[in-house]
Amino acid sequence: MVNLDQSKWFTEISERDGSAFSLRINKKLEEKQSPFQKVEMFETTDFGNLMIIDGCTMVTSRENFFYHEMISHPALLAHPAPKNVVIIGGGDCGTLREVLKHDGVETVTQIDIDEVVTQMSLKYFPELCESNDDPRATVMFDDGIKYMRELAGESIDVVIVDGTDPVGPGEGLFNHAFYTSCLKALRPGGILVQQSESPLMHMPLLVEMRNAMLDVGFNDLQTLPFPQPIYPSGLWSVTLARKSQAFDGFREDTASKIALQSEYYNGAIHHGALSTPNFMQRVFNKK
Ligand code: SAM
Repeated sequence: MVNLDQSKWFTEISERDGSAFSLRINKKLEEKQSPFQKVEMFETTDFGNLMIIDGCTMVTSRENFFYHEMISHPALLAHPAPKNVVIIGGGDCGTLREVLKHDGVETVTQIDIDEVVTQMSLKYFPELCESNDDPRATVMFDDGIKYMRELAGESIDVVIVDGTDPVGPGEGLFNHAFYTSCLKALRPGGILVQQSESPLMHMPLLVEMRNAMLDVGFNDLQTLPFPQPIYPSGLWSVTLARKSQAFDGFREDTASKIALQSEYYNGAIHHGALSTPNFMQRVFNKK
C-alpha cells in the first residue's frame, strides 16, 4: 500500500467508481469557493496546470484536447451547415475555442453557471481562452437549465452540453425536462451533444441519458468513446442526438481542414469513434 505524500501528489478518489487517480504536483496555485462549487488550481510536474472542481479533475494543459475536440467536431461536422451554436457549461473555454475553428459558425453563446471557472481559466489556461474575443462569441454566466428553457424555439443548430457530472449544479443537465428544452430550441436536423461519462464505469447513467433523449423525441443517437487520461477509467464519451432526422455521415472535406488544427480529431478518428465497441453495442441494442 503506497501512501502518497499529499504535498507532492493530487489524488481524486472516486467513491462511486472505486477508483482513484493521482498527478504529481509542484504546488497549489489558487483556490476559490464560488456560490456553486469549489475551484482549485495546481501546477503539476508533468501535465502543466490542473483544474479541480469539487474535488474532481476537470482540465490539464497537457491532455484537454481529447475532450474539447471530441465534444465539438463530430457534432459540428455531422450537421450540414451549423450557424448558431450554444454551449452549456464549458467554463474553461476550451470547447468555445474549438467551435470557433468552424468558419461557417456565425454565433456561439456559452452559458456557464460559475464565473469563477472562467476567471481561473483566463489566468491559468490562457491558451483555452484565446478565442474569447472572437466577435461571434458571447460568454455569459447563468444557469444553463434556465437558459435552455427560455431559449426561443427552433433558434439554434447545435447545443453542446459541456457540464460537470450529474451532481450539484450539473444534475439537472441529464433529465427529460432539460432535453425537452434542447429539442424545442433546435431547428429540424439540429444536434444535441453532451459529455456522457465513462462507458466502462457509468453505463447505467449513459443508458438512462440515451433513453431520456429518445423519450423526449430525439430521433437518432450516437455515443462516441474516446480516451480521456484524467477521468475515471480513462475512457470517456460524448453522445450525439439528432432532431427530426437520422445521422447520415459527416462533412469529411471540412473534417480534414479541422484536423490540421487538431491534436486528436481527424476523419479517421471520427469514423473510428462511430464504430461502437461490442461491450457498448450489447447494452445499447438490448430492447
Ligand atoms: N470542459 C472540461 C473538460 O475539459 O473536461 C470539463 C467540463 S466544464 C469545466 C464543466 C462546467 O459545467 C463547469 O464550469 C460548471 O460550472 C458548469 N456547470 C455545471 N452545472 C451547470 C449549469 N446548470 N449551467 C451551466 N453550467 C453548469
